[in-house]
Order: sequence, then C-alpha cells, then structure tokens
Amino acid sequence: MSEPVRLDHFMARANAAYYASRDPLAEFATSPEISQTFGEVLGAFAIDLWARMGHPARLQLIEAGPGRGTLIADIWRIISRHAPAMAGGCEIHLIETSPLLRRAQAARLADAPQAARVQWHGALDDVPPGACIFLANEFFDALPIRQFRKTPAGWVERYVQNSSWVELHVDQPPSLDLPPDAAAPAPVPAAEAIFEIGDAARGFAQALAARLLRDGGVALIIDYGHCQSGYADTLQALLHGRPADPLADPGSRDLTAHVDFAAIARAARAVRRFGPATQGQFLTALGLPQRAAALAACNPDQAAAILDGADRLVAPTRMGTLFKVMALAHPTLTEIVGLPAGDAQS
Ligand code: SAH
Repeated sequence: MSEPVRLDHFMARANAAYYASRDPLAEFATSPEISQTFGEVLGAFAIDLWARMGHPARLQLIEAGPGRGTLIADIWRIISRHAPAMAGGCEIHLIETSPLLRRAQAARLADAPQAARVQWHGALDDVPPGACIFLANEFFDALPIRQFRKTPAGWVERYVQNSSWVELHVDQPPSLDLPPDAAAPAPVPAAEAIFEIGDAARGFAQALAARLLRDGGVALIIDYGHCQSGYADTLQALLHGRPADPLADPGSRDLTAHVDFAAIARAARAVRRFGPATQGQFLTALGLPQRAAALAACNPDQAAAILDGADRLVAPTRMGTLFKVMALAHPTLTEIVGLPAGDAQS
C-alpha cells in the first residue's frame, strides 16, 4: 500500500513523466497547430508591442511551454520579415523541461528564414535579465493544482493513493485567496464544493510580474479557464484524445486544470493588467478573420480548411469563449491592442 500523495505532487510527477516521453500535441491540437494565422497575428501584435515599448535595441522573446515550437516559429517569421530592426535585437528564450520537445522546437526554428538566437531554460528564473515579450499558450493549465473540498465536518484536502482519491482533514481551512465578493457561487452544493489552488501558477505569475517591473515588457497568457475564482473540479486527463481517469497510470496521460485568471491577476498585482478577454474577442480585434480570408483567397485548394481553422479559434462554441487572454505589463505601458485595461487590483 503506497503512501497518499498530495494532488499537486502527483500531478507534477505525472506530467513530468508524460512530457518527457511523449509529444502531447499528438493527443490534442492547440491553436498554433490548428492555424498559422494564430502565430501570424501574434507576430504583428509583438511588433506593435515593441513599438509601444519605444523600439528597444535588445528584446527577449520568451515562451513558456513552446510545445512543437510552431507558435514561436510563426511569430519569428512575421518579425523577421516585417520588422528586421526588431529581429536584429531579438533573442529567443524557450522555457521547456522536456528534451523531446526541445529537439522538436530546435528543428522548427532551424527552418526559419532568418536564423534566430535561441536558448533553452528549465525555469523562468534561469532566463537572463532583460526587457521581454513573454508568451504562454496552454502552459499554465499543465501546472499542478491542489484541491480542497468543503464537507459538513470541515475542509479536506485531496490526495491520491493507488489510483484513488483519499481525503485528509486539514486543521486550517486553505488560504483561498478569494476577494471578499467571491464567496461561494450559488450553483454548487456546499458539501460538494471543490476549490482549486494553483500554487505553481501563482508563483510563476508573481515571478513574471517582478521581472516585468524590474526589466520592462509584456506577458501574454492564453489558456482555457475562468475569469472569476470559484468552486469547481476542473482536473482532467486526455488519453488518445479522449477524456480519461486522471488518477490511473500516471505518466501515460496529459493532466490539466482550468486556469484561474483571477488568481493569476492577484498574484501579479504589482504590474498593470489588460483583460482577460475571450480568445474570440482578442483574435478578432487583432484581425485574425481577415488574415484567414486573405490566406484562403491565395490558397483556393485549402480555403475550406483555412477558414475552418480560423473559425475553430474564434467561434464561441469552439475555442473562442472557453479560452481567455490576459496580459501583464510594466506600468509605463498604458494601452495595448486587443485587450481592455483591467480593473485596479486590491
Ligand atoms: N504552447 C504549446 C504547447 C502546449 S503543451 C502549444 O500551444 O502548442 C504544454 C507545454 O508546456 C509543453 O511544451 C510542456 O513540455 C511544457 N511544460 C509543461 N509543464 C512545464 C513546466 N513545469 N516547466 C516547463 N515547461 C513545461
């Protein structure tokens, strides 16, 4: 009989094993894999940010969890083609733990029309100081969470033992880090209420904010999740593209949880925030539908697939509403394209 393992520790180990041995993108398609227009409009967005930052002579493009490297390669193609002065001062820093995916990223960037200066790191803290544009698409959802449940007898925390849940009482209620107005949302019966805490996501956001404040720049976070903290069990596993038991056979499946954007915003309250907006709103403001229409017109044989890919990213019933976009920025940056300024943080 093995010892109970706290959910965040279980998830961290399972995902490290999973990402080290498999290409997760064989299981599910992410936005940059669905349509090149995603990276192209983000490339134009990055060029605009560089201008708003005052055309810094040196700039780091940092991506966390770059997967196959498709997004950074698409962005790099746009920057090197349309903003050579920016490209000349850019360094690419990729935060990736999986050796398998690092190789895929290197191969993808090697195909780029202009050679990119690329370095890999295991963590954000390892990236040297410097003004940056930081990107993370479907990275935060892979970070481990803890789950607490409110029972009539008090709070319990969820552990995993022999592929099953074990719930252990906690003396202190978890620090929910909820703003005062975010008390238990109505529809969930209190006895079933699960509250998730992403210590890793909060820590990452805090470190990101400190870096932006120190060195300048902008961070763009795109993921599926919610804008308000609340009670929900969002842990999920995908195996061969289908929902599966998250506790079975650790390392064989991709474990994720919805991203709590409000918790990230609170952790990053030291910097300016834009959004969150839905992915549909953001990409439409960036002109993705027009870009897809132009691409389709130039490639009539693939027009249907190109237009369907773009629709998948923006349509509310597809990825347009579930996915959210939020930016964090150095306070000197007062406006960015596509995202409204967020409310002041308490
Ligand atoms: N952003 C990509 C891939 C998303 S899959 C895309 O949009 O296609 C998640 C990525 O995050 C993978 O590259 C995975 O190896 C990486 N990853 C997951 N946990 C990580 C961690 N703790 N530190 C660094 N990278 C991590």
